[in-house]
Amino acid sequence: MKLLEVYIEHATHDLNRPFSYVYFGNKKVQKGFRVLVPFGGQKQIIGFVSAVLETNKTVEELKNETGFDIKEVIDVIDEECLINDSLWELATKVSSYYYAPLISVFQTMLPPSMKPKSSSLKGPRIAYEQYVELIDDNEDGLTSKQIEWIRLLKKEGIILKKEFKSKSILDKLIDLNRVKILLKEKNRLVREEVEVIGHHKLTKDQEKVINQFTLSSSKVFLLQGVTGSGKTEVYVRLAEKYLNKGQSVLFLVPEIALTPMMIKYFEERFSKQIAILHSELTPAEKYDEYRRIARGDAKIVIGARSAIFAPLKNLGLIILDEEHSETYKQENTPCYHAREVAKFRSMIEGAKVIFGSATPSLESRARAQNGVYELLSLTKRIHQSELPKTTIVNLLDSRNLDRDSVLFSLTLRKAIEETLSRNEQVVLLLNRRGYSPYVTCRECGFVFKCENCDITMTYHREDNMLKCHHCDHVMTLPRVCPECGSIHLSKQGFGTERIEEEVNRLFKNARTLRLDSDVSKVRLNIEKILEKFRNHEADILIGTQMIAKGHDFPNVTLVGIVLADIGLTMPSYRSSERTFQLITQGVGRSGRGIKGGQAIIQTYMPEHYAVTLGAKQDYQRFYVQEMKNRKLQKYSPYMYLISFEFSSINEEKLENSANNIKEWLISSLKDDGIVIGPTSPYIKKRGPFYLKNLLLKFKNIEKIEETLAKLKQMFEGRSDIRMKIDRDPFDY
Ligand code: ADP
Ligand code: ZN
Ligand code: ZN
Repeated sequence: MKLLEVYIEHATHDLNRPFSYVYFGNKKVQKGFRVLVPFGGQKQIIGFVSAVLETNKTVEELKNETGFDIKEVIDVIDEECLINDSLWELATKVSSYYYAPLISVFQTMLPPSMKPKSSSLKGPRIAYEQYVELIDDNEDGLTSKQIEWIRLLKKEGIILKKEFKSKSILDKLIDLNRVKILLKEKNRLVREEVEVIGHHKLTKDQEKVINQFTLSSSKVFLLQGVTGSGKTEVYVRLAEKYLNKGQSVLFLVPEIALTPMMIKYFEERFSKQIAILHSELTPAEKYDEYRRIARGDAKIVIGARSAIFAPLKNLGLIILDEEHSETYKQENTPCYHAREVAKFRSMIEGAKVIFGSATPSLESRARAQNGVYELLSLTKRIHQSELPKTTIVNLLDSRNLDRDSVLFSLTLRKAIEETLSRNEQVVLLLNRRGYSPYVTCRECGFVFKCENCDITMTYHREDNMLKCHHCDHVMTLPRVCPECGSIHLSKQGFGTERIEEEVNRLFKNARTLRLDSDVSKVRLNIEKILEKFRNHEADILIGTQMIAKGHDFPNVTLVGIVLADIGLTMPSYRSSERTFQLITQGVGRSGRGIKGGQAIIQTYMPEHYAVTLGAKQDYQRFYVQEMKNRKLQKYSPYMYLISFEFSSINEEKLENSANNIKEWLISSLKDDGIVIGPTSPYIKKRGPFYLKNLLLKFKNIEKIEETLAKLKQMFEGRSDIRMKIDRDPFDY
């Protein structure tokens, strides 16, 4: 008989330990297998085996020994181990660093059909792709959410079923005979043959960086290279070195869909050795890719955040491109950052790590400064030694604007005209989607707010709806004010939709494209839009930060940042850093070809250092200035941070508890930590749950471990108030 230690699928903190089960059957079972077990009142749920012991004792003896009722395993699900030893070690490390249940880490690590979750058992059996087709666009009797989809389908034709986030809405629309499901045969992961092409001849700088890396005994490197300095070629060359040695390479990007050129660059060089972990892959494809990687058939894996857990063997190199990107941080438990996990993996498997960016996070740069990471730098652009010329336009100065447009200054308009007349391309960046960020009543001052989150709802003209940009809540814009019945509703402020409208009005002959997360709601659109723009099928590309990242458009000679300071008004200690990054990356899209380029930055805060230094792409001075602020304000990277989010449906109780915990923390930690709060987060509610945050700042984790352990214990098994722990939080 076998005695198994089993982790249970509950994602609550209280179950972060294994339970014992006996197994009498004769199937193979090992650590890393899933099993079906009874648990509490539940007849069968999925567990994950962490240890197997042969025993001669009887169940009775075991019961007496442990004092627990030991139940029997119902069945063993897998035939092979899902997680190898080093990934197991990695999961343990992630679980303890982020104070997250081990089982939640396994859920994050594994593809859907292999997760230790009941839903996984439906298995990956999809041989065809399902689409949704509109058959009747009559909106009568539909909810706002349903109407939103009807309008999207009307615009897009057919949409992949898996892009429909909500099954219940889809089912309802099918019921109501508005849409139907269309089956199309799916070509399972048939990748186009790409022609393998040769390398660029390395520049002196690139060569220097590669040599420095190769000769160094350091494990972790920061590659800081200005925009357009050829970081990709450096990655490719280094990857090749490891593949030639028979080792494997992990390459992380912020978002697959946003980096088609980067991926093509890799495909052109490594062809079939690559596995790409798209989020759009079907469960079946994800399963296939996972197995292919685990078998060692794919030697190089490209993916976003969760690809850091890809089961590559004999890992030699991990590359994290655009390391400052926020997409590397997961918001749900485990709140991990791929950068930290990369370092854990490097320690466990002995791989080297490169973090690359033109605008490294302050944390990474500070570590490079202290010699914790080794700094590699590329200071010059490939084609053009000059960075784009930038002009800052002060929007507070009325001389810069005239009656023709309140959104575009005279300087920006003139520059756009000139660029278009030279048959070159323009990128216009505004980090806010939709038409206008809030709608108010001019009679009574009413503002439309989200009923879940209590933040203002953004008006979207494309489908005439109000949308919450935090949760999925939508509503059709009513004709009259819900408070006073007035018809004078006014759309305030502007987003990308409004910019597009303005561009079409001012530059009638220009062909425009827009890229933001509305347009890209249908995923495949992103690649099409980027491709069209690259092929010069449009003159002006308008978009959010999605277009600021990494793209290489050689014919773009003008970048306009329509309003640079949107981010500065957000309540976060990172707002300056974000704004600096956005401006630097945005400006960096201009003049990447041989023609040189310019950038125009419109702002109400022309003196702000994030704006002035971003315009100059002066990372070094920004770093020095911002480090001073962080030191003064005692934020990361001077102090470490942990944020606690408490949630409850009872607002008063929540408030009291948060205050009590704060007092308790202060008395328990004494001088070893600083506690800030409780504060209401920017998004005050999550559905019916009110939220309160506490922030803990500290220098030495060892000194506070005991307090943290006690705090965790206090919330074990509590359901009236829940606590989420976020170590190294991005915002506060
Ligand atoms: P970064 O990621 O640093 O912003 P990229 O890697 O996109 O820069 O490189 C910018 C451009 O320079 C790309 O078009 C790339 O193909 C080209 N490039 C890179 N290295 C070389 C080289 N050694 N010789 C010629 N062109 C190069
Ligand atoms: Zn009103
Ligand atoms: Zn909301």
